[in-house]
Amino acid sequence: MTSLLDRVIADVTFRTGRPAVQLEASGRHLHLARADADTLFGAGVALTPAHDLSQPGQFTCAERVRVVGPKGEFPALTIIGPERVQTQVELSATDARQLGVTPPVRLSGDLAGTPGVTLIGPRGRVDLAEGAMVAERHIHMHPSFGARHGLTDRQVVSVRVWGPRGMTFNNVVIRISPDFATYMHIDYDEANACGFTPGLLGTIIV
Ligand SMILES: [Zn+2]
Repeated sequence: MTSLLDRVIADVTFRTGRPAVQLEASGRHLHLARADADTLFGAGVALTPAHDLSQPGQFTCAERVRVVGPKGEFPALTIIGPERVQTQVELSATDARQLGVTPPVRLSGDLAGTPGVTLIGPRGRVDLAEGAMVAERHIHMHPSFGARHGLTDRQVVSVRVWGPRGMTFNNVVIRISPDFATYMHIDYDEANACGFTPGLLGTIIV
């Protein structure tokens, strides 16, 4: 079944001659490794799904984590499940400044050499040696979308967004997987810069 969004995207793609993609703005959040979830919430804890996200199988959790840096803290950071191999704290540059850390821009999972922060839960505390990063802007893409438009995994493209603060994002990394629904992810700094509102579309410029 074709959703209204799919029809709008197809229409914009037809009218502009370039593939259109919907943007989503990701607020600061973290992904927890199993061992760290155990330390923070108790051994064998099952995190409680609260809201499903657009990526299949991904959800925000009812549980929250206090995140502490050298200069500040966030008392209740959102957890996105399910668990990951390594704990990853995704911040905007503004968030990072508030915490007092200077994380690099990275793709998800590429955490070597990133700064650590402290996580505090109801049952324990984790001092991360690494894991804080600013997410490189990216497009989650289903293989069918990539095949239709000649786009490949790890390809770097630009995305033009419209509206009063319209702009072009360069250095957008395409990530293709059958587990993905096709959406572009930006953080809140980028969302504010481009006048993001839910449903914003961009066109992919190769
Ligand atoms: Zn993403």
